[in-house]
Amino acid sequence: MTKTLDLAALAATGEARPIGVLMTRAQLLEHVAASFAQTGNRRFKLLVETEYWATETLRTTSTTDNIFAHVETTLGDIGLPTNGTIGRVMDNLGLSEEDVHDFACYCHTCTSQIDGANAASRLRTIAGRKA
Ligand SMILES: [Zn+2]
Repeated sequence: MTKTLDLAALAATGEARPIGVLMTRAQLLEHVAASFAQTGNRRFKLLVETEYWATETLRTTSTTDNIFAHVETTLGDIGLPTNGTIGRVMDNLGLSEEDVHDFACYCHTCTSQIDGANAASRLRTIAGRKA
């Protein structure tokens, strides 16, 4: 599914348009981690007790208004299809439910929000594990 883009035409419109994503899972996770690391004092809302959520509930939960919103934006910027659900982010990043819990659950810190540095650290830990 190779697509040829008219780069000159795209440049003329000023439209940001991804050409393609050729990254490994580890590279993708690092890309998102690096993005979080650059968010300064921003705080990201965590999920509550995802270890008790049914798979379907987790996968269909909206990325709006939680830490996955920034993940989704970052993935969308590099051309990965997103649909506003955590499930699609899981598919894009190869995240298991355990990974989602380790990344996004409040119970590791017992705070409802974390900063970008903490989010980046969590993602880098996940990237270091076997998929
Ligand atoms: Zn938890």
